[in-house]
Amino acid sequence: MSETIERVKCLIIGSGPAGYTAAIYASRANMFPVLYQGEQPGGQLTTTNDVENFPGYPEGVTGPEMMIELQKQAERFGTDVRHGWITKVDFSGPVHKAWVNGEKEIHADTIIISTGASAKYLGLESEQKYLQMGGGVSACAVCDGFFYRNQEVVIVGAGDSACEEAHYLSKLCKKVTMLVRRDVFRASKIMAERVKNTENIEILFNTETEEVLGDGQVVTGVKVRNNVSGDIYDIPATGFFVAIGHKPNTDIFKDYLELDETGYIINAVPGTSKTNVEGVFVSGDAADHVYRQAITAAGTGCMAALDAERYLAAKESELAMAN
Ligand code: NDP
Repeated sequence: MSETIERVKCLIIGSGPAGYTAAIYASRANMFPVLYQGEQPGGQLTTTNDVENFPGYPEGVTGPEMMIELQKQAERFGTDVRHGWITKVDFSGPVHKAWVNGEKEIHADTIIISTGASAKYLGLESEQKYLQMGGGVSACAVCDGFFYRNQEVVIVGAGDSACEEAHYLSKLCKKVTMLVRRDVFRASKIMAERVKNTENIEILFNTETEEVLGDGQVVTGVKVRNNVSGDIYDIPATGFFVAIGHKPNTDIFKDYLELDETGYIINAVPGTSKTNVEGVFVSGDAADHVYRQAITAAGTGCMAALDAERYLAAKESELAMAN
């Protein structure tokens, strides 16, 4: 082996609630996990302000604070948390290989993928400004909808997610305005019908976002454009929700793992964290386009560490029997 190759029992890729929970369990099981934090240490929660729905925090906690606490908890039991990004893997042989920042090579007995998914945004400067400030732009209605109770909000998107989130928001907010860029929904008929039949949801077809308006601190409205008539006008709102899809961060695994048509990793055995490659497990949003919550990510992180531990135990007893 060249000097640059490091051998580990358990490599965890990603540092959201899934990765850190996997790390807590794996380190307590003496698997000496090495965790690479990836491009966005702490994951999607670091772009969230208050997390009020994670059990155990009666007063709520900010996303970044929660991720620091999770990291400390993983480190307390010995997880080796490292800066760095896994840029390439090779799962073709009995040893699972991964490369950090395109250079350092790691050989791992088990790998837990917790690379998450990234919400897609429109990319407007004003949208990014209020997103970064925590001033009223969100890509998760279930996480942030509660902060807009009895207020007026705007949501962009026309798929199942947008319909589900608009419906969720309609139960909390005074009014939900839904911006659909074409003259039809992409969502399934039943979901589209549900929003159409909800009194406090107004659907604006052929309508695109020009700019998210604000007072420099928080969102105050949205400037929109009708792409048929060309009309431009403002809609008052305190919240701007973007529901135009997510992209799972799974590109580097596509040559080895079974992915669905949108890139989510498929669980080879439903109800477990197993992938189609023995010894490679998945947790969190990289395999979940349905729930996408911190608590579900943490739950599947726990499952992945337990599955990895059992896999190693079975391998070790196989080896002992052979000798
Ligand atoms: P989708 O890719 O299905 O839909 C994205 C929507 O966002 C489309 O309507 C698209 O418009 C719109 N959009 C994309 N870019 C822009 C833009 N720049 N400006 C305005 N609108 C834009 O993503 P979803 O997250 O909704 O769903 C992903 C998958 O998950 C789907 O298979 C869906 O069925 C599934 N899902 C299922 C659920 C359920 O069954 N309960 C719940 C949630 C998701 P356009 O149509 O014009 O392209």
